[in-house]
Amino acid sequence: MSSSNDIRATFLGYFARNGHTVVESSPLVPRNDPTLMFANSGMVQFKNVFTGQERRPYSRATTAQKCVRAGGKHNDLDNVGYTARHHTFFEMLGNFSFGDYFKEQAISHAWELITKDFALPKDRLLVTVFSEDDDAAALWRKIAGLPDEKIIRIATSDNFWRMGDTGPCGPCSEIFFDHGPSIPGGPPGSPDEDGDRFIEIWNLVFMQYLEEPAGVRNPLPRPSIDTGMGLERFAAILQGKHDNYDTDTFRAIITESANLTGQDPDGPFRASHRVVADHLRAGSFLVADGVMPSNEGRGYVLRRILRRAMRHAHMMGAQEPLLYRLFPALERQMAAAYPELSRAAALITETLQLEETRFRTLLDRGLGLLEAEKAKLGEGEALPGDVAFRLYDTYGFPLDLTQDALRAEGRAVDVAGFEAAMTEQKKRARAAWAGSGEAATETLWFDLKEKVGATEFLGYSTESAEGTI
Ligand code: ATP
Ligand code: MG
Ligand code: MG
Ligand code: MG
Repeated sequence: MSSSNDIRATFLGYFARNGHTVVESSPLVPRNDPTLMFANSGMVQFKNVFTGQERRPYSRATTAQKCVRAGGKHNDLDNVGYTARHHTFFEMLGNFSFGDYFKEQAISHAWELITKDFALPKDRLLVTVFSEDDDAAALWRKIAGLPDEKIIRIATSDNFWRMGDTGPCGPCSEIFFDHGPSIPGGPPGSPDEDGDRFIEIWNLVFMQYLEEPAGVRNPLPRPSIDTGMGLERFAAILQGKHDNYDTDTFRAIITESANLTGQDPDGPFRASHRVVADHLRAGSFLVADGVMPSNEGRGYVLRRILRRAMRHAHMMGAQEPLLYRLFPALERQMAAAYPELSRAAALITETLQLEETRFRTLLDRGLGLLEAEKAKLGEGEALPGDVAFRLYDTYGFPLDLTQDALRAEGRAVDVAGFEAAMTEQKKRARAAWAGSGEAATETLWFDLKEKVGATEFLGYSTESAEGTI
């Protein structure tokens, strides 16, 4: 069986053999890019190389990039635990050409690597191309010998990539693996494509245009390639599993979580084990890259991730803080590839333990309140916004934690009501301060508060649950 570590090495080794420089993953917190919360794909560290603002001593690169998609444009937080293929933290394997090779070589490299080096059966693979990209369709026919019905043309933005409103853009082509008819879901482009039977494993982006302001699109003189393959999804296939959470890395953590909680990994708490394992990875890697839990910005995303995990640990009956005790299992699996995990082990362990210890009492009491309030509701009735706000304000429940807690019974939260309660609270707090005659101090105080955020006990908070994300 290929381990996740072997797969990463094989991927990087293949592209290194084919003239690519192996470049280290960039940190999760992007340098020089305040618009982006976390690195969410392999190309992030190469943005300026693609636009020509920066030159590197190589024109081909390959990476295993740490990615987090839990906020901003790509937010997979709500998928975790519920689909077989989404994580908040994952590794994206990629190869990049900066004005060097283009479509034909990108397709033949991808096909050779997965069907020869990794020996995936050709009849389980299918691809999508952008509806207007006849070149890509013809190349898949020529290089892979795929029949037309396995080269699916998609007209949506799923198959057209843009860096931003302007800048490099181009069609993309995605490779899917068919996990077989026993799993529900249809092929890409079909009405039930969101199922987990056909899983997207690799996205090849063909950057061939430059979008100018006013929507003018000109051909790039030297087109480029950016690709991304999800290591966890690929590992599932190679390890004969359907589900990412059944692969070596996740199983090691889930086994530990099962030992410590006494809950069967595949029993009624299956989703909880998965959420805990996923969030442990995200939390640990974020702390290793310098993010600390806080009430705003990146730190609040981290806090939300950790608190969500804690609710699941609590549901499994964990009497003691759980996450920090799972860290050694993660370290064993991943520190060889990411030594920062070991370098930051003490900080990670302490941070996880402290967050969980501090939140436990609030969590207990907040869940008690939630139960009491739920009992007052009719079937399918949404939780009133002011209750969700009270949970947020007094018990430190991020909105998404409350939503996650209600999800199992198909109950929603009145989000508009939640936001109205938040606005109301801020107004009251400011009014209470107005007229104190200390305008300068007051402004300073609010500025400071905006920066450091409120604590759970202060009675009101400065950020909306989604606001700063
Ligand atoms: P999906 O449609 O399944 O959400 P995506 O189209 O959003 O995936 P891309 O942005 O094309 O994904 O990223 C490239 C690759 O990274 C995907 O083909 C997939 O293998 C992997 N990937 C993307 N999001 C996740 C995630 N949340 N967890 C694990 N792997 C992911
Ligand atoms: Mg996605
Ligand atoms: Mg997709
Ligand atoms: Mg994609």
